[in-house]
Amino acid sequence: MERLYSPWRSQYIEGFDKIEGCFLCNAYKSNDDEKNLVLYRGKKCFVIMNLYPYNACHLMVCPNEHIGDFEN
Ligand SMILES: [Zn+2]
Repeated sequence: MERLYSPWRSQYIEGFDKIEGCFLCNAYKSNDDEKNLVLYRGKKCFVIMNLYPYNACHLMVCPNEHIGDFEN
């Protein structure tokens, strides 16, 4: 396979301009984990499912704090 193609992601890409702020921070700040697909909240990170995954079982482990670069 030379290209990763996931047509189900088009809905997300086409609606990206409609999202205000960072979707990960929005999910973290919300209290509705079921709606936002948040599976786990830890001391420094949280685990969230990807509504528009590239493949099955795609999870993201995200820091609780929005920081602009990896070293921080
Ligand atoms: Zn963020």
